[in-house]
Amino acid sequence: MKNVRKSPEPEELKNYREQYSSQFRRWTGRKSKNGKKKEKGLTSDSKTFNAIRDTLFADQKGLCAYCEMKLRENNRSVEHFIPRNQSTKENNYDLDWQNMLAICLPPGGMKDDDLENPQLLKDLPCCGKKKDGFIPDGRLLNPLNLPTLRLFKFSSLTGEIRPDEKACEDSCIPIENVQFTIDTLELNVQRLKDQRLVVIDFINKELDDEMIDINDLEEKVAVEYFGDGTDNWPRFFTTLRWVLGAGAEKHLTNISYSG
Ligand SMILES: [Zn+2]
Repeated sequence: MKNVRKSPEPEELKNYREQYSSQFRRWTGRKSKNGKKKEKGLTSDSKTFNAIRDTLFADQKGLCAYCEMKLRENNRSVEHFIPRNQSTKENNYDLDWQNMLAICLPPGGMKDDDLENPQLLKDLPCCGKKKDGFIPDGRLLNPLNLPTLRLFKFSSLTGEIRPDEKACEDSCIPIENVQFTIDTLELNVQRLKDQRLVVIDFINKELDDEMIDINDLEEKVAVEYFGDGTDNWPRFFTTLRWVLGAGAEKHLTNISYSG
């Protein structure tokens, strides 16, 4: 998980909310009071729905807000950080732009063939599928409220994600909350660990050149992967950032990285 900087809400969502505010319009359709007529929800308004999905995708530069796998056209969903069923008349979390994130759905990193297997989907959930229904209580980190600091570190033996104690201390975020977030979103599901490990091994091979000073080499590889920050980020941004160490930090500072 990395920090996400959101752009202003799409005009379409604003208009939609204003248009239907008197009706307490929701995200998904439901039966009206007499139980017969089906009310239409926002997902049936393709223009607004697409504007939301596209803006989230652009803000997150193509990555799932939780696991940092690449979002694809057929592998993304709009996540409500506070579940939609917590909405009240005063706080309509359903249509609150600041409550929306793009995440992978089905779970990131699943092979296309595996997506056909409902048992695997059930056994290997992560991200929104794992969090499903959880009401954030302050322990679960929200990508919108994270510092630009790298709060996580990794195992180069297993691909496991762990809290970075020093960064937690520097940013005054309790280590327990970072660990709680990892556990709640199941970010150490085997599939994600395996794919992180592939990335870690690959980068370490690129860094295995004794002819070049390691700091220069780390920065050179960071330039290669992160570019000038205008394109989409590579998958497992935070893992790459950790492997590339000081070189990554130097480059991210140079490009004024903010999310
Ligand atoms: Zn994900």
